[in-house]
Amino acid sequence: MASTFPFAAIVGQDDMTLAIQVVAVDPTIGGVLVLGDRGTGKSTAVRALADLLPPIDVVSGCAYRCDPKRPAGICERCQGNAKGRKLPIESRPVAVVDLPLGATEDRVVGALDLEKALSQGIKEFAPGLLAQAHRGFLYIDEVNLLDDHLVDLLIDVAASGENLVEREGLSLRHPARFVLVGSGNPEEGELRPQLLDRFGLAVQVRTPQDLALRVEVVRRRDAFERDPEAFRAQWHDANQALQQRILKARKRLAAVQVSDAMLTLCARLCQQLGTDGLRAELTLLRATRALAALQGHREVKPEHLRTLAPLALRHRLRRNPLDDADAGVRVERGLQEVLAA
Ligand SMILES: [Zn+2]
Repeated sequence: MASTFPFAAIVGQDDMTLAIQVVAVDPTIGGVLVLGDRGTGKSTAVRALADLLPPIDVVSGCAYRCDPKRPAGICERCQGNAKGRKLPIESRPVAVVDLPLGATEDRVVGALDLEKALSQGIKEFAPGLLAQAHRGFLYIDEVNLLDDHLVDLLIDVAASGENLVEREGLSLRHPARFVLVGSGNPEEGELRPQLLDRFGLAVQVRTPQDLALRVEVVRRRDAFERDPEAFRAQWHDANQALQQRILKARKRLAAVQVSDAMLTLCARLCQQLGTDGLRAELTLLRATRALAALQGHREVKPEHLRTLAPLALRHRLRRNPLDDADAGVRVERGLQEVLAA
């Protein structure tokens, strides 16, 4: 496998690196939508983060990457094998699965293994990309060009954590918990509002405009490409420190307090901005809690809301005919008013 760029060495994409660390702490926040130009390293950050995380324990040989520590959510085969026995464990890297634009539904959800059916008369399920992505990341480049019904399907599975297959005389379910990361270039196809607000966080990536930053981005990229292993060795300690930060945050997450005052702030902000439904507030709550955990805090503070509100809300704002300000500006304004009150 080609060498992965170290996460700690990524510069100039602060929102993007923050968003994926936050969802790595709490995957229930939902996916990350990355909007921006080509060549801004959108998939690099996801691969770098997965590479930074420690390998996961998986039931040996299981095509669904079942978690031996969560016996309630394992696949049917593992359930059968688990009766009265301890399941054998192997260690596997956190997956980043690419979903190509032309992928068929069969390839995504899995399908009857035709070869086995024809040659041996055995009816067996061949797992798809959803199974491969379990406990990892599912990356879709140009998500705005993906077939609508596939997008809906992915978002449903990502939310329920389970892939239910009822087709070709097959009926089975298997765990499929993953973080959906979609990239899109708004200039190459409208992003439907329904698609936008199904993603937990959205970030905009651009080529850095600051000259010194641009130079640093190129310098690091060049050093990495000339000698990946030396570059990785140089960033090893910084990467390890980030890994520990994420792992500690996951442990701390359940203990992070959210006061009624903070909940009220979140609700007032969403109300002021007119976001539909409660999804925005729930996302804000979870994301700010994950950020507090990352920073080692015991409770969520207004500064966490300030940092994450743009990432959690900007993409959910409907066009306001009386206010043609950019969504980012409207979130900022809302924040100022709510935090000043
Ligand atoms: Zn299994």
